[in-house]
Amino acid sequence: MPSLLQRIDRSVRAKLLVLVLAPLLVGLPLLLGLAWAWGDQAYQRLLSFKIGSDLVTAHEYFDRVQQGVGLDLQALASSVALGRLLDAPTAPATMNALHGMLVARGLDFLHLLDRDGLPLASAGGRRLAAEPRDAWAVVGSAVAGTPRTAIELFSPDALAAVDPALRRRAHLPLVDTPAAVPEPRTFEDRGMVIHSAAPVFDADGLLVAVLEGGVMLNGNLAIVDRINTIVYREGSLPLGSAGTATIFLGDTRIATNVRLFEGTRALGTRVSRAVREHVLEGGRIWQDTAFVVNDFYVSGYEPIEDSAGRRIGMLYVGFLEAPFRDARSLALGVLVALFVAISLVGAVLSLRFARAVFRPVERMNAVIQRIAAGEAGARVGTLGSRDELGRLAGEFDRLLDTLAQKREELQRWADELDNKVADRTAELAEANAILRRAQQQLVMSEKLAAIGELTAGVAHEINNPVAVIQGNLDVLDDVLGGAAAPVRREIRLIHEQADRIRQIVTKLLQFARPGEFAGYVEEVEVNALLADCVVLTRHNMEKRLIELEQCFDAGVRVEINRSELQQVLINLIVNAVQAMPDGGRLLLASEDWREGDEILGASIRVCDSGQGIAREHLDRIFDPFFTTKKGSGTGLGLSISYTIVERYGGRITVSSELGQGAEFRVWLRRRALFDEAPNAPDFRARWAAEGGVRMR
Ligand code: ADP
Repeated sequence: MPSLLQRIDRSVRAKLLVLVLAPLLVGLPLLLGLAWAWGDQAYQRLLSFKIGSDLVTAHEYFDRVQQGVGLDLQALASSVALGRLLDAPTAPATMNALHGMLVARGLDFLHLLDRDGLPLASAGGRRLAAEPRDAWAVVGSAVAGTPRTAIELFSPDALAAVDPALRRRAHLPLVDTPAAVPEPRTFEDRGMVIHSAAPVFDADGLLVAVLEGGVMLNGNLAIVDRINTIVYREGSLPLGSAGTATIFLGDTRIATNVRLFEGTRALGTRVSRAVREHVLEGGRIWQDTAFVVNDFYVSGYEPIEDSAGRRIGMLYVGFLEAPFRDARSLALGVLVALFVAISLVGAVLSLRFARAVFRPVERMNAVIQRIAAGEAGARVGTLGSRDELGRLAGEFDRLLDTLAQKREELQRWADELDNKVADRTAELAEANAILRRAQQQLVMSEKLAAIGELTAGVAHEINNPVAVIQGNLDVLDDVLGGAAAPVRREIRLIHEQADRIRQIVTKLLQFARPGEFAGYVEEVEVNALLADCVVLTRHNMEKRLIELEQCFDAGVRVEINRSELQQVLINLIVNAVQAMPDGGRLLLASEDWREGDEILGASIRVCDSGQGIAREHLDRIFDPFFTTKKGSGTGLGLSISYTIVERYGGRITVSSELGQGAEFRVWLRRRALFDEAPNAPDFRARWAAEGGVRMR
């Protein structure tokens, strides 16, 4: 199983697919990462801006609350009602009136002091220590003639001095908060107060008294709820996030709408160490996510300073981060899902498209492999693709067709070549056979020439004694006369045998020196000569019950020596008769020898129904001394006949099969064609070399 890298390396489609998908699979995550980073940065900055502006709004409102207390005191200080009270400052009515003002203005305490800051009367009739109160910065300022409002930290005693109820209200058990700086105290009992004092002037503008009042912020849920309502109006926070506002005394929540798990307000819990160090100790504004009580809030903290500029607490606003975080996670999730979906769809589409694009190449590759495996007819076939690759596949098929066609042609040529080579080889073999035969003929001719010389000499030597024997035998016969009667038969036998010797010798001479025996040439009427031959051989035929058929159609005369032609024909007839010892059918026929319109001469056929000639003998029957008639034949008949006919430009052909009879045909020219040097053996050899087949 090839590895992924190997598969990619072997496939063009896979390579191009990687090329196409690489930007998608690498670029998209990169873009996603960048978008995410930028988005997150923008998200953080947005939240930071928002919390900054929330803090400003809260700060403004908190200022207004302080100013409100100051303005209330100033209004009271300059009111006619207060002026009247100054006439009897210690009267119970005055205290009641002050109480009425306290309730009306929502103050927690209200004192009337003399112009040195000594208490004259207090709302609700509480008795204040007879000590000047100008140690308080706001009172000191009012004594000096200037109204002032500030936030002050009241010790428990200071609170008790003003109103024991306030001290009780300020008492707050501390709740253990994990991320806060460890705190040995178990409760907070100081009070954070909006402290205000206003001078009271008479009609002449002289300071006659000071009005001191304040609102304690500990447990003052109305203020934080109001801040919360102003900063986070209904619907101002998207995604269901909840807004919160808190006032800290030091790092402890003394007024808050942040809820604990049970739903109670988280009073007494403390701020984290990080925020405490940043805001309380560092004096800077916090605008960031912070863990508040039990969850992460986008938080804004700013320090609250007292009249002397000491950081005594913090103002906080914030909103739950979770919904925003969830929204951000949702956005990221959607983004990732989109990316995955796009990548998947892109990959699937690319794969399908790539498959469609590369189908021609893959089909071509498959066809090449099939052809390599021996399937010559494999083709790419019709494809839907009309692009360059599709056209290439079409061209590829055409190329394969052309190749197949060329291969077929080559094969055909190769076959033709094979056939030609076979033909030529056969012709060569035949030519070789002819050559071999010619060589044999030549050797034979040379032998014949030698035999001819020898025979001629011997024949002359024999002829003379034979002539002497015959002459003397005649003399003997004459001399003895009647006395020779008892040996007449023997004398006749000697005559016959001597005559036979003479005939053989004549034949031998005729064979050896044919020229010497050539008689004169005349125009012979073939049909008449044939009729003479029949007369001469009739008794032979009759003896062997041979049925003779004659068909003499030749119309031309031929140039030849009459007795030689007769010798040839009688020889052929005698051979035919001898071939049919038990009788048979003999055909003697003559016709004109035509070539085209021209009559060259006459041809004579001698056909028998005898034993026929064996194939291996057919080549040799014209050879001198070749005979199958052991004892009775000389083997010279056909040889001499051939020599005679050939001497006049004619020829003898034969066709025969064993057991099927034989047909000899003598071709004779109207005008004899004499060879210049009619040396019989040479002539025959040349004839054989030119085309021995013609002998058959
Ligand atoms: P001979 O007749 O003395 O044998 P030839 O030259 O006349 O000599 O004939 C040669 C040989 O050819 C014969 O021995 C015979 O085998 C064969 N032959 C010739 N004519 C015929 C024929 N008509 N039928 C069969 N064989 C023949």
